[in-house]
Formats: sequence, structure tokens, C-alpha cells
Amino acid sequence: MGRYDGGVSEPTGGGALDRRVDGRARDAAAPGGGAPGVDLGTVSADDDTPKEACGVFGVFAPDQPVSHLTYLGLYALQHRGQESAGMAVSDGQTVTVVKDMGLVSNAFDDRTLAALTGHLAIGHTRYSTTGSSTWRNAQPVYRDIAAHTVALAHNGNLVNTEELAGELGMLPGTVTSDSDVMAELIAAELGKNPETSDDGRALERAMLAVLPRLRGAFSVVAMDENHVVGVRDPHGFRPLCLGKLPNGWVLASESPALDVVGAHFIRELDPGEMVVIDVDGPRSVSAHEPEAIDPKLCLFEFVYFARPDTRLYGQSVHQARVRMGEQLAEQAPVEADLVMGVPESGLPAAEGFARATGIPYGQGLVKNRYIGRTFIAPNQEMRALGVRMKLNPLRDNIAGRRLVVVDDSIVRGTTTRAMVSMLREAGATEVHMRISSPPYKWPCFYGMDTGTRGELLAANMSLEEIRAYLNVDSLAYLTLDRLLAATGAVGAGFCDACLTGEYPVSVPVTLGKDVLEAPAPGRGGATAAPAPESTFAGLLEGEASLPVDDARQQGDAPITVVHDGTGGLGADHFGG
Ligand code: SF4
Repeated sequence: MGRYDGGVSEPTGGGALDRRVDGRARDAAAPGGGAPGVDLGTVSADDDTPKEACGVFGVFAPDQPVSHLTYLGLYALQHRGQESAGMAVSDGQTVTVVKDMGLVSNAFDDRTLAALTGHLAIGHTRYSTTGSSTWRNAQPVYRDIAAHTVALAHNGNLVNTEELAGELGMLPGTVTSDSDVMAELIAAELGKNPETSDDGRALERAMLAVLPRLRGAFSVVAMDENHVVGVRDPHGFRPLCLGKLPNGWVLASESPALDVVGAHFIRELDPGEMVVIDVDGPRSVSAHEPEAIDPKLCLFEFVYFARPDTRLYGQSVHQARVRMGEQLAEQAPVEADLVMGVPESGLPAAEGFARATGIPYGQGLVKNRYIGRTFIAPNQEMRALGVRMKLNPLRDNIAGRRLVVVDDSIVRGTTTRAMVSMLREAGATEVHMRISSPPYKWPCFYGMDTGTRGELLAANMSLEEIRAYLNVDSLAYLTLDRLLAATGAVGAGFCDACLTGEYPVSVPVTLGKDVLEAPAPGRGGATAAPAPESTFAGLLEGEASLPVDDARQQGDAPITVVHDGTGGLGADHFGG
């Protein structure tokens, strides 16, 4: 299939490829009509929330249109990453990989999907946490080695990426993301035993050899020609669940992705568990020693990241968020005329706050549902309008009223401050801010992009200073105990490092988003250190590593797959 003969191919239908290359080229040249190379100031329209890492999806379903199922699944996971999307499909002989920058709808159309025939597939939506936002770092990543092509999609962030790259003897720039290093390690294992690579368990064996070497957060779906594999790290930082189709099986970051493809939810994978799916159905394999298993699901999946219709630890995320609001009302009540939530993730907690206090619940802000993650602003004045691009006050509900405004978190405070200003301009007589999580004080190294500690409002100001900065009449954050109680899964095991500074997995001093993209002193030498602030203070206080759409700035290489046919491991392997 396709024009490449090394096991990975682009889909048939070169017209689609050509058309999309054209579209890409158009995007690369002067966004917004400005001159190429001029920084027009791409700003985030949503700087006050942590950014999701990625969504992953996998399906094994003979006689089913797996590429279309993957497309639907990725659509349901779009909230977890909007920078790039991709899928790999196998017909038992050939693995085909297609990926592109932007939303799922940008990356795939009917023609592309129709060309992606097979009975197993994996998919990915990306938000970059290691490696910049470029086509080269879009996923699935893949390797063609021995008798196999392996493709891999990763949600999370490894903290020993540089160390692993060094062990592999990789030259700086050869691999540029932690997921890429993971694929490289698996390929290296597959290459060690080519004589046993046809017994149907080669990928499973390779992954079992590699997984214990990975440190940090990883929920991964991987595949070769005939198997789909799902695995969670021993802490289970990121979610991953298993579902059943009438004639097949599905893996997905969140349960709504099962719903949209008509799959029945079976269960969440356990931390440290690997599930291998093939013609014989799913098999569960322990990928780590029992003593390594220590559940630490990201608490912010409950607070903000996951869809409200997702179930985590057996609990409804929506109901948990409503309970957070109820807890907040009990902890920090206030006299007011209206309770409103900041769309979208603040709404369930606002509902809970209103229910618990008896204060009427209403809509105070209208969200533009169609705004992209970023927009182009030529100057500071225009950037300030970014908040209005996203949220606009509903004056009739606000004027002359004392408001309780409920949101899930405050990261940098810029959006919140602008929003409060809008509410006051719209006639609010009082604004009482209630946050359904504790102060966000520490950067996340396990797959969420929050910038550095220097950018985190609560890391640098007291409660009273934050209140004054936001210009609100009162401010309260939900306590950690109450938040945990609201999840309904107290004792199940959570990561709360961004709230407490207690990191479950120690973080290397050199870790940064671009850890593999610039020559770093000490590559090849592990620099893992314990987590205390003083150990990686430079990282915590350093410059922002917020994503920029550098694919556009760099005029990065166009879209679809794939590979140079050499089976080599160089940069060309990415098809760039
Ligand atoms: Fe989640 Fe915070 Fe832990 Fe990151 S540090 S995994 S955002 S709880």
C-alpha cells in the first residue's frame, strides 16, 4: 500500500496529500496577512488554566472502519490537545501513519479516512509538554525495525527523557520528544532479537523491557501490524480505559471516547498495567514490579482536565465538580444575589455552590465556543481584547447584583483579572471569587503545561495580594482535604504536586519542554535529583516555556507521514 516499501506508507490518494500540502503552505506563509517572519504576538486566549497534555485512542476491530472510529474517538478527546492530531492504521501487513498540525478536523477528511483501511488503529491529539509544537513532534511516532513497524501515541511526560536519549547515544536534535525516545527504545529492543520477532509477542516483549526504564507520566497506546497495546505508568498519572465493541476492543484516555464509537465501558486500566489486544481479545500483563505500583492519578483531571461526562476512579467527574462547589459553599459562604460559573469547567462547581447556599444560579458570561486556542494580536491593546474574544458579560444578569463567581483554578491570573474587570464594567456591585481547588503554586512535570513557578500567581502572592490583584471583594480557594473528599475517591491515590510541591517522581534539574531540542551540557549523564525547590529552582523560576505555534513561525514541513525507507533513525525518519 502506498509508495513507500518499508512497512510504513502514506495513504493512497495522492490528491489528498497534495491538496493538504498546499493548504499547509498557505498556513505557513504570513498568518493573518502579516509579513513572514514578523512576530505578530500569538497569545493564548486561555492563559489562566493549565493546558492539557494529550489524548490517546486505540481500536482493534476486524471488519470495522477503524480509521473512522479513531477519528470519532479523537474528536471526543479534542479537549486534551489541539496542536496536532494523527493516527496509525494497520491492515495486518502495513502500518500507515497520517498526522497534521491543528485540530482533528484539520488533519483528516473523508478521502484520507477512506484510504486508511485496516482492522486496528491508534490515534493521538497533542498538546506539547516535551518537544515544541511542530509537525515533526506530532504523533503517533513510529519506527520501522526488523520485521515490524511500531507506532506509538503518548499522553503524559517523562522526566528522564534526556537520560534515556543519552543511553541510546542519540545526538542532540535526533529525537525531539519524550515519546520519540520511547519509540526509539522499543525499536532498539525489537532490533536485539530479530529471530523471535515473528512469534506474535515481539512488541509486548519489547515494551516490557522498556517500560521499567521510563520515569514519569505515560499512558500509551502502541501498535504493530497485528496488535494494539495500552499501558499506564505505575502511578497512573494519566487516565486510560478499556471498552468493548460488538466485534472488537477500544482503548481511550477518557470514557466518552468509548461512548461516541458505541463501545461499552469495561474498566480503567490499573496503574502499571499493560493490555495487549489481538485476534484473541485483550490480555492483561503486569508491566512493573508490584512494589513500583503507587497510584497517583492527576488530581486536576477531576478539577479541570477531563470531560465532565468522564468517569475516573469509578466516579462521575461532573458530580465530583458539583460536590467541589458544595464544599466551597460550606467552607467559604458569602451573601450574594447570583452565583455564576466561569465557562465551561467552572459551571458544575457553581451549580453546587448555588445548591448548597440557596443563592440563585445564573449565567453571567457568554463563551465564544468557536474561538481557537490562540489568536493573533499585533499589540498589547489587542491582546487585552483576547479575554473578550473568549468571554463576554451578560449585562442583564449582572448589573446591580452581588456576584459569586466560581472557577476551577487560577494559574497566571491574567484572564481572571480581565474577567473581573469586565464584570464590574457590566455593573456588578460586588464580586466574590471562589476557586474549586487549592492555590496552584508548583509547575507540573507530568504532562500539563503551566509555565514556570515564576508565572504562577499563587506562588508569588499571598491570598490578600491575589485578592487585591484580581480586584475582587473576597477570595477563597477550596482546601485540599475538601477537594479530595469531593472526588468521592479519597484514598484511591492522587498526585497533588502542583498544590503541595510534593512530587511523586523526582524531577531532573535539566528538565524543560525543549530538553531534546538544543545541545545540553551533560547529555548522557543522568541528573536526577530529589524534588525540593532548591534543587531545581532555576527550572521553576526560569523563563516561560509556554507553547507557541512555532510550526507556523518556522514554516515547518508538511503533513502526512512518513519515512525515508531506510529504516534509519535520523531526522529524515520523520518525513520532515
Ligand atoms: Fe496533575 Fe498537578 Fe500532578 Fe501535574 S502536578 S499531574 S497537574 S496534580
